[in-house]
Amino acid sequence: MRTVAIVGRPNVGKSALFNRLAEKKISIVHDRPGVTRDRIVAECSLGRAPFQIIDTGGIGAGADAEFADQVEAEVMIAVEASDLILFVVDAHDGLTPVDTEIARMLRRSSKPVILVVNKVDHQKHSQGVTEFMSLGYNPVMPVSAEHAIGFDDLVHRTESLLPADEPSETRGGQVPLKIAIVGRPNVGKSSLTNAILEDDRTLVSAVSGTTRDAVDIPYQRGDQNYILIDTAGIRQRTKRSDSVEVFSVMRSESSIRRADICCLVIDAAQGVTSQDKRIAGMVCEAGKPCVIALNKSDLVREQCRDKESLTEFLENIKSELFFINYAPVSLMSAKTGDSLDRLFKRIENVREASRKRLGTGVLNRLFSSAMTNHPPGAKAGRRFKLLYATQPNPRDNVAVPVPEIVLFCNDDTLLDDGYRRFLEGRIRDQVSWTGLPIHFHLRARTPSANVRKRGKD
Ligand code: GDP
Repeated sequence: MRTVAIVGRPNVGKSALFNRLAEKKISIVHDRPGVTRDRIVAECSLGRAPFQIIDTGGIGAGADAEFADQVEAEVMIAVEASDLILFVVDAHDGLTPVDTEIARMLRRSSKPVILVVNKVDHQKHSQGVTEFMSLGYNPVMPVSAEHAIGFDDLVHRTESLLPADEPSETRGGQVPLKIAIVGRPNVGKSSLTNAILEDDRTLVSAVSGTTRDAVDIPYQRGDQNYILIDTAGIRQRTKRSDSVEVFSVMRSESSIRRADICCLVIDAAQGVTSQDKRIAGMVCEAGKPCVIALNKSDLVREQCRDKESLTEFLENIKSELFFINYAPVSLMSAKTGDSLDRLFKRIENVREASRKRLGTGVLNRLFSSAMTNHPPGAKAGRRFKLLYATQPNPRDNVAVPVPEIVLFCNDDTLLDDGYRRFLEGRIRDQVSWTGLPIHFHLRARTPSANVRKRGKD
């Protein structure tokens, strides 16, 4: 959803403005630790289409930030996590050095900014507005959050500068999904590729890829479009040698990089070998969506004869591949063509899951309670503090966008792998994002000597 951030120094009336735009009474207590973060995010429905608003003044409330760091963090979050910024100043106080400093920081960003002069409660205050012209914003929007003056104009102006809202569900829906079938030699990659292609009659011609022997095959199944990438080496069966094995790893690397989703083939009869783990590690490292095809099910019928033994069998495989636990496992046979449908259903489930979004309110509430119940450990007396989290809109034209979560924090070096996994687990409790890794991007608060100095004036 399109996001508008409200920034400004303390006491200019950011929360009052926020409450007006949200059309509700939300009491924000800035100086109490553990403030529930959803109060800083709300929806504004005053315009033609709703947009999301963030009150950056509520962010990190109760954290140990100095005044200048706090202002800097607010601006950083506004610039990175929003589509438009409402920069609020106070008509009663006039232009202050901190306002000038905030304007300087905002100039570094390319986001549209609207200067909102608050507390213009009467006509007689409107003279004070001209003073702010020197900041270089045009037009300046005078409002009174307390008396609900000027909001129609403000919302109208905001809407005219916001990008059009494109429903994320439709994004990338028609883009062909690039599948890389990867795995060590002899697990059945070419058999699977052939089974897939033979299974369908609407096969389009093969197209040569960029490298000499890479072949990408457009393929249609039902009403969905796919591209099977780098199939040249796996379509014809050759006698394997050590050098071929090395070559196959190199090939896997480039296929993985180009793929929207990796189908990692594992030989069920042999179980997970160290080379399987190595290739799974490459998929993980590349941060790619993944499904696991546990091939040659016909050879393990005995081990999987009933539900219980099947579950146990699958659990064993999964525990060997614990580091890529986001990937669902499908037992199948390329030889008999068994469960190909299920494999494609899994792939479609992943595509569908990649469209799921976690609202900023939900996300911040989730982290806030998780971190209150299980605070991170201290490192040299300092603790990781999360100021604000958001999931940016996925890029257009990406068939399977990997969920990205931006974490604005006090210091990115304080988040260790264990705690990162803990946070990821809490997200997956809420939305499973099957087959998808979750990318965390950390943005640390960077204190600016300049603002600090001014802040203490
Ligand atoms: P690749 O090196 O990964 O491409 O593996 P291939 O597709 O060449 O398969 C290696 C061997 O496994 C061949 O002898 C295949 O016939 C056999 N194979 C592939 N899939 C299956 C399967 O589902 N069941 C059985 N029993 N054998 C299979």
